[in-house]
Amino acid sequence: MVSLTTTMRRLGIITVVTPTLISSTAAFSRNLTLPSPLRNHGLTNSIRLLKSRSLLSSLSCFSSSSSAAYLPALDEFPSTKASVAMRDDNKKVILKGMSYASLQEWVESHGFRPGQAMMLWKRLYKDNIWAENVDQLEGLNKDFKRMISEHAEFGALSFKDVRSASDGTRKILFTLDDGLVIETVVIPCDRGRTTVCVSSQVGCAMNCQFCYTGRMGLKRNLTAAEIVEQAVYARRLLSHEVGSITNVVFMGMGEPFHNIDNVIKAANIMVDENGLHFSPRKVTVSTSGLVPQLKRFLRECNCALAVSLNATTDEVRNWIMPINRKYKLSLLLETLREELSSRHKYKVLFEYVMLAGVNDSMEDAKRLVELVQGIPCKINLIQFNPHSGSQFIQTDEDKMIKFRNVLAEGGCTVLMRFSRGNDQMAACGQLGMLGAIQAPVMRVPEQFRTALKASV
Ligand code: SAH
Ligand code: SF4
Repeated sequence: MVSLTTTMRRLGIITVVTPTLISSTAAFSRNLTLPSPLRNHGLTNSIRLLKSRSLLSSLSCFSSSSSAAYLPALDEFPSTKASVAMRDDNKKVILKGMSYASLQEWVESHGFRPGQAMMLWKRLYKDNIWAENVDQLEGLNKDFKRMISEHAEFGALSFKDVRSASDGTRKILFTLDDGLVIETVVIPCDRGRTTVCVSSQVGCAMNCQFCYTGRMGLKRNLTAAEIVEQAVYARRLLSHEVGSITNVVFMGMGEPFHNIDNVIKAANIMVDENGLHFSPRKVTVSTSGLVPQLKRFLRECNCALAVSLNATTDEVRNWIMPINRKYKLSLLLETLREELSSRHKYKVLFEYVMLAGVNDSMEDAKRLVELVQGIPCKINLIQFNPHSGSQFIQTDEDKMIKFRNVLAEGGCTVLMRFSRGNDQMAACGQLGMLGAIQAPVMRVPEQFRTALKASV
C-alpha cells in the first residue's frame, strides 16, 4: 500500500489541525505540488482539514478528477452524539452541553431528585443568574452542590478579550480548551433589540470566496456546550451595557449544518422556556445550503431558518459558494418550496451579499424574483464586508437601492443590511484568524474577471 504521506503529497493536500497529525504533515506543508485536477481548476493551494480517524476515507474524494474533487466532504466531522458531554481528561460532565432531559437523567443517576435538576437548570440559564461556578448556586442543597463540583464543569469557554467597534458592536473572543479561538458578536440594534451572533465551528470548510472565515478552512466543530455558552456569556458580560439580548443568529464562524447535531441541541437549549427562553422565532440558523441537513433542521427544530443565496445562477454560485456544486440552486429552492408549503406562517430569510459586477445586475434582481416564487420568504440584501486579500468590491448604495426596488416591485419583502462592526472585523464574513495556510481560491469565470480587484 502506498504510504499515507506519499498519497497526500501526490494529491497536494495539506493537513492541519490535530496535534497527532501536525508532525507528520509539517514536512510537506510548505512544499505543495498540485494534482492536475486541482491545477486545472486554477487552485492556488489545496487544503484539507482532516481528522486523523477519517483521513484515509477523506482522501478518496480528492482522487476524482471531477469538479467535486474539492468540495467539502460533509461527513468528515461527525458531531458529538453522546447525550452527556464529557471532558476527556477528568471525565466531568459539561453542564451546558446537556439538554434538560439529559441533565435530569444525570442528576437522578447521582441519587438526587428531578426537582433539583430543574433548580440547577434555572440557575444556569434563568433569572439573570447564569451561574459560572458552584458558589453561585444559591439555594441548592449542600450535598447536591458537592456532587456538582465533583462531577461537573460549568464553563466550556475561557474569556480572552472583548473589542468594541465605533457603532457599538462588540466582538468577544473566547479561547477553547485546545487553545483555538472563536468569536462571538453582540450587535445592539434600535427598538430594544440586541442580537448575539454565535459561531458553530472553528473556521469553515465551505470555502465561500467572499468570506474571511472560509479562508481559514475548518479546524473543528464546536460542542453544544461551546455554542450555548457563547449566548450565556454574552448575556452575563454585556446585558448591563447593551440591555437584554433578545435574538440569536447562528451567523458567526462556521456552517451550522455541517455540525447539525450540536447546533440543533444548542438551539433547543436556547429556546427552552425554563432556560435561556429565547423565542424560537428569534433564534435564526443560517446555512449556505446543505439540503439534507436543512430538511432535518426543519423537522427537528422550530427555530427560524436563513439561507445564504448570494447568486441567481449556478455558474456564479458554483464559483463563489462551492457547496452549490453538490446542492444546486434548483434543488435547494425546490426543497424549500416543498418543505415550507405545509408550514403555517413560517418564512425563510434569504441572505444575498451584494458583490459589484458579480451578482448585482438588474437581471440578477429579476431572476431572484422568479427564483423565490412560491417560497414564503424575506430577502436580506447584505453589503459586502471587505477584508484583507478579498478580491470582491462592494456594490454601492444607490445600486443596492435599485436592486431592492426591483425585488419589491416583483412582490418580495426585502430588507437591506449595512455593515456593523466593520472597524473591528466583527461584521458578517469577517470573523476568524488566518493561519499560514489558507483555503483554495477558485477559478474566476472569464466574464467576471474585470469585476474583481486587479490584485489582492
Ligand atoms: N455559514 C453560514 C452562516 C455564517 S455566514 C452561512 O453561510 O449562511 C453568515 C452570513 O454572512 C451569510 O449570509 C454569508 O453569506 C455572509 N457573509 C459571508 N462573508 C461576507 C462578507 N464578506 N460580507 C458580507 N456578508 C458576508
Ligand atoms: Fe462558511 Fe458561511 Fe463563510 Fe460560507 S459564508 S465560508 S458557509 S461561514
